[in-house]
Amino acid sequence: MIRFESVTKTYPDGTVAVDRLDLVAPSGEITVLVGPSGCGKTTSLRMINRMIEPTSGRILLDDRDTASVPSHELRRGIGYVIQHAGLFPHRTIIDNVATVPLLLGEDKKAARARAYELLERVGLPAHFAKRYPAQLSGGQQQRVGVARALAADPPVMLMDEPFSAVDPVVRDQLQNEFLRLQSELGKTIVFVTHDIDEAIKLGDKVAVLRVGGHLAQLASPAELLSKPADAFVAGFVGRDRGYRALGFAGAGSMPLHSEKTARVGWELGRARDHAEDGWVLVTDDDAQPQGWLRVDGDGDASAEVTPGGLNLGGTLAVESGTLREILDAALSSPSGRGVVVDEDGRLLGTVTASQVLAKIEEQRLAAGPRPDGDALVKDGAQ
Ligand code: ADP
Ligand code: MG
Repeated sequence: MIRFESVTKTYPDGTVAVDRLDLVAPSGEITVLVGPSGCGKTTSLRMINRMIEPTSGRILLDDRDTASVPSHELRRGIGYVIQHAGLFPHRTIIDNVATVPLLLGEDKKAARARAYELLERVGLPAHFAKRYPAQLSGGQQQRVGVARALAADPPVMLMDEPFSAVDPVVRDQLQNEFLRLQSELGKTIVFVTHDIDEAIKLGDKVAVLRVGGHLAQLASPAELLSKPADAFVAGFVGRDRGYRALGFAGAGSMPLHSEKTARVGWELGRARDHAEDGWVLVTDDDAQPQGWLRVDGDGDASAEVTPGGLNLGGTLAVESGTLREILDAALSSPSGRGVVVDEDGRLLGTVTASQVLAKIEEQRLAAGPRPDGDALVKDGAQ
């Protein structure tokens, strides 16, 4: 556990970067620090491993005051990942990853074996090992940065905007792999980002900072979306937070409409008999949805249903998914009927957007009145 106790950092020019910050980052969890540029995120992070010393206050790591631990000893247990990975340009990938274990006195063979294992874990095939950093894409370099930070198996990881410099598709992959890795490793992670969507996706807890290094709110992502503490947080969290909050709400049991389906290769006339409101869902023999078929009155009834004739517009929702996924399946479906499948991708049934909305309303009523409805009023007033 990392505990900030009234930590302040004033730079020599008088800038107060962090102001009496109280914060706990629990062991084995991801705590995200998020806020606009210049709000003191990097300063807060670097005070944990004493790359920056606090002006006042204390930071405790597992109840030990970090000020009393020699900084080299402290950093041995703390991995650090930064935006452009910060790799050594003249060392190969494998040597970059093995650097820290070698410095810690591990023998060369063991350090390399571990480095290969880590590269695999972060999703880099072994043939990258002998390349140099400049021969890798930005996303691949970030993976190496993560592998290198993990090389000494530190219990704590500090990550400063590690995925900010890569394009959105790669960022999404890196985030997903990072979450998968963390579910195996259970490190204590403090993760800095200026991107609220990234914070909400990755954080077990999210600390929103405002400029001047003030903590505006510390909450779970779901709480941040549903109960922003004030107008600043509400504004920072963004406009479609009501919709995004559905991403944390399980759908529970939804009554599903049992859908009559068709197969590729059927005659159009037969498929038409299975249609409702002009649309029929085509599945394979294993009940896995292939797409929707529009069947209006015309067309040759003896023509075959072909894969090319299917509308692939709708997303699929897994039964155990969130209300957001199920609502998205309904809204994106050309037939207006969202397709719900089981864990193996087999059709369970369909649901309309109005049924999902009724479910949302039902859950809202079951949750009782909002304890702090004033956040809504403040938000509306800005
Ligand atoms: P963030 O990471 O949230 O963008 P920083 O922690 O880097 O914010 O900076 C917080 C504030 O401290 C900013 O106003 C920044 O200009 C200032 N700052 C950062 N480093 C120094 C420094 N070495 N000297 C003076 N001011 C600094
Ligand atoms: Mg920063």
